[in-house]
Amino acid sequence: MSKIKINTVRCKGCGYCVNDCPRKALSFSGNINDKGYDTVQVDDSLCVACGTCYRVCPDSVFEILE
Ligand code: SF4
Ligand code: SF4
Repeated sequence: MSKIKINTVRCKGCGYCVNDCPRKALSFSGNINDKGYDTVQVDDSLCVACGTCYRVCPDSVFEILE
């Protein structure tokens, strides 16, 4: 069950979320979005829905679901 939702269309591949996730749950997926950026993916088994990615992302990619 996903604890966060990732709107990859908005991702610019800056990596802030990947660097700041305290659980190392985020990584680049290799999936390139329409803007040409490598987008992020989450390992649901590691994510604890702390909200750090939501706070650091400059492009409102994340939604916390719980
Ligand atoms: S909610 Fe927290 S643990 Fe989950 S991916 Fe975002 S920063 Fe990582
Ligand atoms: S912080 Fe936002 S824009 Fe930057 S890589 Fe993460 S999801 Fe993409």
